[in-house]
Amino acid sequence: MLTAFVALPGAAVFWTEAGKFVTDLFDSLASGILFFGGPLDIVRAVADILVTTFVVYFILRLMRDSRAWQLVKGIVLILLFAQFCVMLGLSTVGFILGNTLSVLAIAFVVLFQPELRRALETVGRRSLSFLAGALVDESPQSGHSIHNTIEAIVRACDRMSESRTGALIVIERETRMSELAEQENSVILDAAVSSSMLQQIFYKGSPLHDGAVLIRSGRIFAARCHIPLSDNLHLRRDFGTRHRAAVGASEMGDAIAVVVSEERGTISVSFEGRLYAMENSDSLRILLHKLLGSKQLGVISSLLRGRSLSHEAETAALHAEAAGISSEAAEAADADQRSHAPRPPARKSYRLHIPKGRQLLMLAASLVLSCVLWFYVQVTTNPVETKIFSPSIQQTDTSGLVANGLIVLSATDTVSVTVTARRATLASLPAESVLASVDLASATTEGTYTLGVRIDVKTKGYYKVSDVAPPVATIKVGPPVAAPAA
Ligand code: ATP
Ligand code: MG
Repeated sequence: MLTAFVALPGAAVFWTEAGKFVTDLFDSLASGILFFGGPLDIVRAVADILVTTFVVYFILRLMRDSRAWQLVKGIVLILLFAQFCVMLGLSTVGFILGNTLSVLAIAFVVLFQPELRRALETVGRRSLSFLAGALVDESPQSGHSIHNTIEAIVRACDRMSESRTGALIVIERETRMSELAEQENSVILDAAVSSSMLQQIFYKGSPLHDGAVLIRSGRIFAARCHIPLSDNLHLRRDFGTRHRAAVGASEMGDAIAVVVSEERGTISVSFEGRLYAMENSDSLRILLHKLLGSKQLGVISSLLRGRSLSHEAETAALHAEAAGISSEAAEAADADQRSHAPRPPARKSYRLHIPKGRQLLMLAASLVLSCVLWFYVQVTTNPVETKIFSPSIQQTDTSGLVANGLIVLSATDTVSVTVTARRATLASLPAESVLASVDLASATTEGTYTLGVRIDVKTKGYYKVSDVAPPVATIKVGPPVAAPAA
């Protein structure tokens, strides 16, 4: 259906296809049990639809959290407009839009490669983190050492903010950022995190001051790392490359970036692609504790409460808190924030927080979409079809006839059997599995009998014998004809 949609020059093709789908669907549904199969098939279908709903919902949510959402909305609008034009007979517009769409589909993948990559990374991180945490003990930091790391960073940032020393500290969490340390310019340090060490690194005369410091497992892993700059269009214009790099680092996965501005002496924190300016070093301390300690706390508290805390809820709460303790929302993501109108601090920038009603709507849309997809796949790949078999008619129970010294003089020998079943069932049905027989128990005297043909189909699948032609066999019974005397 999608291909037909995209190959729009023949949008007529789409409508023909859609019409055929609807007709096929009704045909299939009319066959009732044949289409849905037995209890096991129904359970399988329900599971299939539920899993598809989950996948569709997940994709919708991932896209909603990224810039790709706008493009998706744009593409859907173009599609609708193109179909509308074609329906009105405006073939040129339809042709142009239709051809542009296939190019757009490729452009989508190319343009949103970072978003798609991040989305896939998120999938991997969220689904495997619990497992990985249980299986691989990568010397997790104890609460004590997290505390020390945070204190060192807070003290260093406080000093550097006073002395207007620019700094960028990237704290790695679950997403490995080894590629930053593997650059030509980077210097691997593997030193303990201390306030003085950080200050020395970022001290203007230091050979290591340019670039970012990467902190891994409570140690200064590398310095002078170059971070890919964020291409977020809505960052404040007066932010330069250091702040953009901080946002870029936080977009690479789940890293946290702390940045001290050389020009303004301000301290900001970036996580999940958003930058928050801190009011003072206490705000920084509170936020870092929340960000670096929240995971464990979240998991423990959710286990205690016996239910899992959703990642989104947790992150949304953190963003809310970050916005609460930040002096100003340094980041703007939503369209309404693009205007220069005065706005209340950050509350509107919770991209991850989706209102309950909207979530339900997205869930309902996913369910409808997956039901349509399920029916489409079933109807196109495994529709209900008919097949004609021509078995020869076997004569059974001839003992009475033989006892009376009679034989069958002539009989209808083949029958045409139409079997209706799903394509897969029919495909696995060899000709020998359809048997036709006629019971001669009643044919004990001489004469011509019209007997019903019995059909047996040897299959475990669901089927229906929709036609038997002829439905009866004519059997002529009589004494054996004596061979003419020589
Ligand atoms: P500040 O408020 O400190 O001036 P800024 O956001 O205005 O920060 P710039 O003035 O452009 O940014 O800061 C330049 C410094 O930022 C560079 O000297 C370098 O140390 C650091 N920097 C710039 N780009 C990157 C990058 N991609 N990765 C790491 N550090 C970077
Ligand atoms: Mg600057």
